[in-house]
Amino acid sequence: MELWKLGIKAAREGLEKGDFTSRDLVEAIIARRNEADTKIGAYLTFDEEQALALADANPKAVPIAVKDLINVTGQPCTCGSKILKGYISPYDATVIRNMKARGFIPAGRVNMDEFAMGSSTENSALGVTRNPFDLERVPGGSSGGSAAAVGGELCYAALGTDTGGSIRQPASFCNCVGVKPSYGRVSRFGVTAFASSLDQVGPLAKSVEDAAILLGAIAGHDEMDGTTPKDPVPDYAALLAGASLKGVRIGVVKEYAGIAGLDPEVKRITDEAIAKCTAAGAEIVEVSLPHAEYAMAVYYIIAPAEASANLARFDGVRYGHRSERSNDVFSLYTRSRAEGFGPEVKRRIIMGTYVLSSGYYDAYYGRAQKVRTLIRCDFEEAFSKVDAILTPCAPTPAFKLGELQDPLTMYLNDLFTIPSSLAGVCAASVPAGFTAARPDRPALPVGVQFICASFAESKLLQISKAFEEAMK
Ligand code: GLN
Repeated sequence: MELWKLGIKAAREGLEKGDFTSRDLVEAIIARRNEADTKIGAYLTFDEEQALALADANPKAVPIAVKDLINVTGQPCTCGSKILKGYISPYDATVIRNMKARGFIPAGRVNMDEFAMGSSTENSALGVTRNPFDLERVPGGSSGGSAAAVGGELCYAALGTDTGGSIRQPASFCNCVGVKPSYGRVSRFGVTAFASSLDQVGPLAKSVEDAAILLGAIAGHDEMDGTTPKDPVPDYAALLAGASLKGVRIGVVKEYAGIAGLDPEVKRITDEAIAKCTAAGAEIVEVSLPHAEYAMAVYYIIAPAEASANLARFDGVRYGHRSERSNDVFSLYTRSRAEGFGPEVKRRIIMGTYVLSSGYYDAYYGRAQKVRTLIRCDFEEAFSKVDAILTPCAPTPAFKLGELQDPLTMYLNDLFTIPSSLAGVCAASVPAGFTAARPDRPALPVGVQFICASFAESKLLQISKAFEEAMK
């Protein structure tokens, strides 16, 4: 049996029945990686010894690939950056501790855009990751390694993080289910911070049920992260039983009709997804997100501002790379950072420092915070009318490596994912079909995005599950 093909649910059933052990699951992934990852490049490192030892200690655990910014004891945590080369984590992030307590073990570290800034994984300083559906194309980003590993059947499921779309857009590009939980649902302790008011950890998986199981395992209150409320975590997977779209009110966003830059095939697939929902008994309702058009501008003020503060800690003193060319403390800081950070990270630090600087703070950062509140209110208003909002996930299918050279064009990938991130609500990307093959482009996977209210993950997953069934 080709164990690497399994998802979490099937792997757990086999472990329960005694058909195989956790060690067998790890060994299957090691063999699969040696065979297929040489082409895809999803993994940065895979500590076989540690993974096998963890498997032997937890013979019923399912191995999970981990994005390279989540701390796992004894493993590198390089965040796709040269500046953290050689850094070894002294502790487990809360998500890792939680998942270990609930039948999972970390196995392998997967590639990402440097410090999670990007939409193609091309900003990784540590290697190229290719889309398993077309090796000429990107897997999306920033959780591109996670998505390529799931879509390329190089793991059973993976953890990613999402600040403005980094779970959902790569999930769409690589035919995975990707869930961005509500802000506060999952602890960020031990997860390298990009933009602290937006970052969330979530699952990338082969099915909605698998995503529900893994989300349930990582979520919950953590004393080490003050944004996580004490509300108990529902049994997301159990609540999927009997999931249906009958009578579910699904919002389509008025402002997105005829929006520029949407690939015609993505439009077709999204329209078909809406038709599937109707056929399955859902009621389609038009909703308005009048401030969504400002989301991109708001995000590119708030996220870099927070990043510029968070990345100040990488100074050549405490972690990772230290310049050998420095002769005083100031040049130690500046040279270590100049040598260690890549161009996109530097761009964000400069933007972030600028919008926070004295005299500009109110005009940029303060104003962006106010517009962010308006965006959140738009969602609150919409969710008083509908259960979920359905949108395209990304404006296009996977693009070619090297195709998008201009940072602003790259930023547009997150057009549909950023508003929900700013609002702090939960959202998922669910596979919705493939583009038609063309001479210049093979058939490529496309996902649609479902968005639900804050802490309505049960509903989000039920709707996603019912949609997944309707697509069969
Ligand atoms: N692509 C977006 C950015 O570059 C989102 C990244 C993310 O969600 N981590 O900021």
